[in-house]
Amino acid sequence: MKNIILVAPPAAGKGTLSKQLSDNLGYISLSTGDMLREASKSNLQLQEEIKSGKLISDETVFSILEEKINNLGAVPYILDGFPRTEQQAIMYKELLQKINKKIGVVIYLDVPKEELEQRVTTRVICPNCKKSYSLRNKLLKPIEEGICDDCKETLIQRVDDSKEVFDQRYEEYLSKTQPLIDFYETEGILKRITSQTIDDVYEDALKIID
Ligand code: AMP
Repeated sequence: MKNIILVAPPAAGKGTLSKQLSDNLGYISLSTGDMLREASKSNLQLQEEIKSGKLISDETVFSILEEKINNLGAVPYILDGFPRTEQQAIMYKELLQKINKKIGVVIYLDVPKEELEQRVTTRVICPNCKKSYSLRNKLLKPIEEGICDDCKETLIQRVDDSKEVFDQRYEEYLSKTQPLIDFYETEGILKRITSQTIDDVYEDALKIID
């Protein structure tokens, strides 16, 4: 199976697609957002930086991720939320050359800003398995209000899932992450998904990695 890089604006569904692919196909999902949130539990400064909606330094993110990738061996993996800048893409390309791994495919989830804003302010997640739910969409509500269907943990809202922080994160996305789309298009490995429902996005992704 090909390794996958997911590129998308905030709340486009990277986490959901990544979870489906790992649950159903055995991919390992590497979410830099989850790794940073975990690291921020013992690092107040990092916590504040994430809460501001700004990107964390390339060096910090890369050092956390590099170790994980080096320890993976031949298991196929999905990068969820990395690279976020062209500089990170270059660092990643150099790492792959060093460890002799193929880049695989880049999946770009293309979702309009208005839809993202709606999603972000109605999203709750499980702090344990990271599954994401929607308070707005009937199909994505938990069975029991406020409780994760799978691990029965109390659902929480992410500290950066407010309208104000979304605006900042979206600005960061436009200025720093969108140039990646051109970068990977030039490399000839970018595949775009414009579907909106979870099932359609998953079906499109299966066709891409087939
Ligand atoms: P996410 O869970 O992917 O939406 O990421 C949440 C937050 O973690 C982002 O708004 C950034 O502050 C930080 N973050 C996650 N991945 C990266 C990355 N590759 N580079 C820099 N910051 C990141």
